[in-house]
Amino acid sequence: MNDYYLIVTYILGGILGLCVGSFLNVVIYRVPEGMSLASPPSHCPRCKYSLKWYDNIPVLSYIILGGKCRSCKTHISFRYTAVELTNTLLWLLSVYAYAKDNLPYAIICALGCSVLVCIFFIDLEHKIIPDRFQIILGLLGIAAIFFDKNTQWYSHLVGAAAGGTVFGLVAYFGSRKYGKEALGGGDIKLSIVSGLLLGWEKLLVAMLVATVGGSIILLSLRAKKDQAKDTEYPFAPFITAGIAFALFFGDKLIDAYMSLIRSGF
Ligand SMILES: [Zn+2]
Repeated sequence: MNDYYLIVTYILGGILGLCVGSFLNVVIYRVPEGMSLASPPSHCPRCKYSLKWYDNIPVLSYIILGGKCRSCKTHISFRYTAVELTNTLLWLLSVYAYAKDNLPYAIICALGCSVLVCIFFIDLEHKIIPDRFQIILGLLGIAAIFFDKNTQWYSHLVGAAAGGTVFGLVAYFGSRKYGKEALGGGDIKLSIVSGLLLGWEKLLVAMLVATVGGSIILLSLRAKKDQAKDTEYPFAPFITAGIAFALFFGDKLIDAYMSLIRSGF
């Protein structure tokens, strides 16, 4: 891809990322409630004011309206804008990392990231991961077998098997030791499809980021709020963040590690 097309791809990636991010807000809000994605049209949850197109421009409308509903002035959660900005950033990262040499894989990454954003926010709020997100991620994982040029095709299959086995064992022994569910079934499914998406090497990176990052954040939360020890925290937000990290930085990290090993430290 030459520079002209690359610039066009950046612009398209940014605009589409923003629009898809806006749609993800609808998905994150409606899917856990079992609502239809198509109807009713977007409205204020409090006064039912039906949003006009100019109330629905990603990021811009939030700023113009000062974070309030046009009709009843109820505060609008910053989450909507955060979702739009995060999705845009991840789509631009996909273009940056892969579009020049491997456009199909850049698209796989961008779509995968959008699914991860949904899982992140839905699990954070509802502590569930609806199966349809796992299925889409799994399909993208199958596509990655063919288009991920940095990883051997069988690595993706090994990743899926390893992810499922390790998490399955942790869940089994965890629940035996503590007498309650240590890891949900959703977490196990997520580790299988993320292994398929990443390959086993990058799955390792993702899990390392998820567990180290998760431990630091949870320990500091616990120290701060002085909460009871058995408060349950969702784990999927950390896994999804780890997967996104591994998608973009996993290969570089593994390369750096391997050359360190080869040089004998
Ligand atoms: Zn309102």
